[in-house]
Amino acid sequence: MESFTASNYAPFPVTLVHGEGAWVVDDTGRRYVDCLAAYSAVNFGHRHPRLVAAAHAQLDRLTLTSRAFGNDQLAPFCRDLAEMCGMEIVLPMNTGAEGVETALKVARRWGYRRKGVPRDHAEIIVCDGNFHGRTTTIVGFSTDPEARDGFGPFTPGFIPVPYGDATALRAAITERTVAFLVEPVQGEAGVIVPPPGYLAEAREICRAANVLMIADEIQSGLGRTGRTFACDHEDVRPDVYILGKALGGGIVPLSAVVADADVLDVITPGSHGSTFGGNPLACAIGREVIAMLRTGEFQDRAAVLGRRLAESVGGLVGDGASAARVHGLWAGIDVADPAVPARDVCEMLLERGVLAKDAHGQT
Ligand code: PLP
Repeated sequence: MESFTASNYAPFPVTLVHGEGAWVVDDTGRRYVDCLAAYSAVNFGHRHPRLVAAAHAQLDRLTLTSRAFGNDQLAPFCRDLAEMCGMEIVLPMNTGAEGVETALKVARRWGYRRKGVPRDHAEIIVCDGNFHGRTTTIVGFSTDPEARDGFGPFTPGFIPVPYGDATALRAAITERTVAFLVEPVQGEAGVIVPPPGYLAEAREICRAANVLMIADEIQSGLGRTGRTFACDHEDVRPDVYILGKALGGGIVPLSAVVADADVLDVITPGSHGSTFGGNPLACAIGREVIAMLRTGEFQDRAAVLGRRLAESVGGLVGDGASAARVHGLWAGIDVADPAVPARDVCEMLLERGVLAKDAHGQT
């Protein structure tokens, strides 16, 4: 049956049929602890009862209207999410990549209409090692050759700088720079945590240069690092949050761009949209996700379990691992032996009932 499926992934040899909390079961009845959590989309565990109940209740009422008409879940969802972010306006989309594309459009239009950048000359600074999704514009500014190969020509206007280097960011800004797009932790690159103070310094650099700081918290946000946002660890409030993954509770795709009105107001009727973005089913689930995050319980749990994870994973350094980076309940472990790819280690973990995923090469 696999022969009918496009080969854009090389999945591990396991077929999952059931999930509950941190546990999943395969088609032979074997149980695994799921350490990938669908790349943080299942931050609350598989089929969390509150999220499943919210989905069921909405399924029985109304699922999709398109934005040609209003629905009664959209406004409360946007209000709750804006409040959680401490910002004014929410633009809902579906996948993470769509959220990123939306933020790029917002930043360019803001640059032309509010900052006075000459039309079609906007520059957006991005980071080496970034991962923001798989659309043609986004892979165009990826620094991973595998992600780009064969997909050009690409959208111009993106300037890469080394990640974690505030001096390089400052030097790359010109009068045409409209935004700095950054992952507060680079997940796909191998859970790369930037040096302490980097996000706060980037915040100040962007503020001083009238450049939008766009934090892609699609994977790092919504509890994973032990705080609601990874930016919270440095008391940083970006100009724009891009959220996704766990926002849909592991049930539906739901992403959002969140900012103040003087930024997001540049999007006007007809300039952007999505058939499914802001649908009542996703918004009802998203509201429950926000309600669960409001208590702080999940963030605290990620922090507490993260400290235990850091202790045990830290013990592997010098004993098979060359480095380990842990931020909340999120870890990247570098395999010391260059002859052993991380994928092989993940296959051994699978044998032992642990689902984990290699990032690049040795992580
Ligand atoms: N941004 C970041 C930081 C991500 O980790 C991802 C997915 O892994 C994306 C964007 C893209 O999200 P999606 O796969 O939902 O398009």
